[in-house]
Amino acid sequence: RESWASDSSDSVISSGSDSDSSLYKVILLGEHGVGKTSLARIFGGVEDCPDAEEAGNTYNRSIIVDGEEASLIVFDIWEQDDSQWLQNHCMKMGDAYIIVYSVTDKVSFEKASELRIQLRRARQTEDIPIILVGNKSDLVRSREVSVDEGRACAVVFDCKFIETSAALHHNVKDLFEGIIRQIRLRKDSKED
Ligand code: GDP
Repeated sequence: RESWASDSSDSVISSGSDSDSSLYKVILLGEHGVGKTSLARIFGGVEDCPDAEEAGNTYNRSIIVDGEEASLIVFDIWEQDDSQWLQNHCMKMGDAYIIVYSVTDKVSFEKASELRIQLRRARQTEDIPIILVGNKSDLVRSREVSVDEGRACAVVFDCKFIETSAALHHNVKDLFEGIIRQIRLRKDSKED
């Protein structure tokens, strides 16, 4: 299991020169059952809590990446209700997006492409960081989407790609660190 050393749930934002811009909103998108809540709960450090099965939630945490602190608010609200308003809002409010599918579910993979298209439409002029995530990589025998298919899809849709297993806590830390790096890269290139 990966450990998230030292940083606990009390998310103190360090008062650096860019402290106001280091709080990032990250939205989880994807079909029902692909593992969004599982990933968010690992990020939030609450996956061991017994009161699971909340309909939707937000997880706030500061982590140190490359020696610099960043605070993420991860929104697991995509499926909260069927309201079109909420989904439109999700498409507009994020600083970065994690689009999740399950490698054991081809339909969820196709849905991920649709979501990417929807997102591009909603944020046409912006270059927002997106990571495509193939979750449940531990379920080797029921795999329906190969790593190569996932990677190729990410190339077509111009986003990053990673496979994770929330069940084994594999690559989950890399995922959230990756999203922070993507946000920083874009921020830095804007400042140049
Ligand atoms: P959501 O609907 O996208 O939020 O998905 P959940 O996080 O609720 O997960 C749906 C189901 O898939 C739950 O039973 C999880 O325990 C299971 N699950 C999530 N991630 C993984 C994974 O990486 N591997 C396996 N084997 N099961 C997973």
